[in-house]
Order: sequence, then C-alpha cells, then structure tokens
Amino acid sequence: MKAIQIEQTGGPEVLQLAEVAAPEPSDGQILVDVLVAGVNYIDTYYREGIYDAEPPFTPGFEGVGRVRHDPQGEIAPGTMVAWNTAFGSYAEQVCVDRDKVVAVPNEFDLPTAASMLLQGITAHYLTHGVYELGEGDSCVITAGAGGVGLVATQLAAAAGATVYTVVSSAEKEQLSYDAGATHVLRYGPDLVEQVRDLTDGRGVDVVYDGVGKDTFAQSLDMVRGRGVVCLFGAASGPVDPIDPQVLNQKGSIFLTRPSVAGWTSREGEFQMRAQAVVQAVVDGDLRFRVSNSYALEDAAQAHRDLQDRKTTGSIVLRVQEDEYA
Ligand code: NDP
Repeated sequence: MKAIQIEQTGGPEVLQLAEVAAPEPSDGQILVDVLVAGVNYIDTYYREGIYDAEPPFTPGFEGVGRVRHDPQGEIAPGTMVAWNTAFGSYAEQVCVDRDKVVAVPNEFDLPTAASMLLQGITAHYLTHGVYELGEGDSCVITAGAGGVGLVATQLAAAAGATVYTVVSSAEKEQLSYDAGATHVLRYGPDLVEQVRDLTDGRGVDVVYDGVGKDTFAQSLDMVRGRGVVCLFGAASGPVDPIDPQVLNQKGSIFLTRPSVAGWTSREGEFQMRAQAVVQAVVDGDLRFRVSNSYALEDAAQAHRDLQDRKTTGSIVLRVQEDEYA
C-alpha cells in the first residue's frame, strides 16, 4: 500500500511517499481503508522528533474511511468510520482500536469527518472538562482561527462565555468573529493590557494557550486570581520550565498541560466527547472549516503551510482522490 514514510525525523521534506506493507490488526483492532486523513499540529512534533517514534514510521492520527476487516466480525466491511488515535493514518490502510472509532452518518462530508475528532474532542475537553465554561465566564483562546481554535470558540460561545481570541491576520480575525468570538485581538506586547482593559482589570477565568513559547508568559498575566492557565500546545515552540512559585505570585492561579488521552481516559469518556462533537455537527451547531486539502504525496506541503501559519481551520490529505468530496 502507499503511505507517507519518515525514515529520519526532520523538516517537512522527510515526509516521503513510499510503498510499504499493509498493517495487520492486533487484538482489539480493525483494519480500515483510509479515504481522507486529518492533518494536525501534533503530526509536526512527531515529524521533527519532539515527540518520540522510532523511524521508519508513518505519521498521522486521524481520518475517515471504510472498514476493510474486523477480525471479530462485528463491524461489517464497508462501514464508514472516523477515528483520531490511529498512529500511521497518512496511509491507504491503518489499524484502529475498535473502541476508538465512531460511525459516520451519511450527512457528513468526508473532509469534515476526517478532521472533526481530534480537534473536536480537544475543544470539547478544553471547554467542558479542563474548565466547564458557562454563562458569565470568560476565556482567551490563542490561535483563534486554527483548527482547535475555531471549534473551541464555537463551543465556548455556545456555553455562554465571553470569548477573547488572538490571531495574526485580518482574514483570521474575520473567521474568528464568524465562529462567535466576542473580541478578536492580535499578538503583541499590549495583549495583556488589552485583556485586562476588556475585563475591568480582573483578567479572564481561563486561558487556553495552544501557541506556547511566544504567548505563555502573557497567558499567566491574562488570567484572574485563582483562574486556570491551560497550556495545551506548542505551535511556536515548547515552553521553558517554570518555578511553581510563579503561580503564587500571579494570584494563586492553576496551570495545567492536558492531553486528549488524559481527557478521554475514563470509562465511556471517549464516546461521550466524540458523540457530542458528531451530534453538534449533525445538528448544525458546530462547523468545521477545512481550508485546504492536499494529495497524500503532498503531505510535506501540508506541513509547511500549517507551520508557516498559512492555514485556517482544519486541513486534510486526500488519500483516495476519486472519493474526495
Ligand atoms: P492550528 O490550525 O491552530 O495551527 C497552528 C496555529 O498556531 C497557526 O495557524 C497560527 O495561528 C498559530 N501560531 C502562533 N504562533 C505560531 C508559530 N510561531 N508557528 C506556527 N503557528 C503559530 O493547529 P491545530 O489546531 O492542529 O493545533 C493547535 C494547537 O493545539 C497546537 O499547539 C497543537 O499541538 C495543540 N493541540 C493539543 C492537543 C492536546 O490535547 N493537548 C490536541 C490537539 C491540538 P495565528 O497565525 O493566528 O497565530
């Protein structure tokens, strides 16, 4: 089968199309024919070697496709499913844990199905887990027009929160407003002052920071006393270690660095969050913007565009070109 293979970690150019052996499902797994694969920022961390994987490996975690083989014979071949935890998804076939797939209703277009789970579940646990947002709450979301950012903004606004987002361009500003942001701000030295002014000096209840290195220090200053700083990503690079005493000085604030694995680890939690996302899409309450799609062999370009901040919303790889729609 065709797959993107990384022989050695590094820049986008290490994402090479190769002919590799098809994977075989182990206990608890099913084999799926991938139609469209989602591209996420975490894929760039594995490609660069920031997160560990032993080369050669195929990156990617999520996608949509048809069940090819269920060793237990429970899921019929041809059933359309989506997933977000199957390492090796930039490929024509991938093995998926059977308890980590969701059936894809007919209403879904494939790009949405391929990109809804990882970013959707993340946005869900951020706004309905790490901090349960409700009426009267306020939050800051960095990278507000990114994949997670646009979804988190919609969920936060739907929960009744005042949503301050941070973006880098006029196009992203408009998209963020369209997603329901109350105020869209730009990165810069006066970001903290702007958020303080908008909150009568108090700061927000929770900061969701997926940018990391460039914004983390400001995140600590934008949150209210006893509020939560949720560092959930590192698009601009990893954050340096901090002295816990800083949390005291900033007003007894909380700092957390969560993961999808941690926030789907309880009994039934993966399905609860996944179904909440799927249902919200079906009901028309949640929209996924898939701004760019790339042929499988152009995975390197997808990573370049993502890391050069050229994308908005989600991006995907067309694994089966003739079925992409
Ligand atoms: P995005 O679509 O949000 O792309 C990243 C965005 O980050 C860019 O578009 C850009 O938006 C912003 N950014 C700010 N500074 C930089 C920089 N120096 N270089 C590149 N981008 C920058 O990606 P995802 O939605 O896939 O992921 C967003 C973040 O969420 C990532 O950090 C990712 O690791 C994290 N994540 C964490 C999860 C978790 O469970 N912990 C799960 C899923 C994602 P702008 O130009 O507006 O600043």
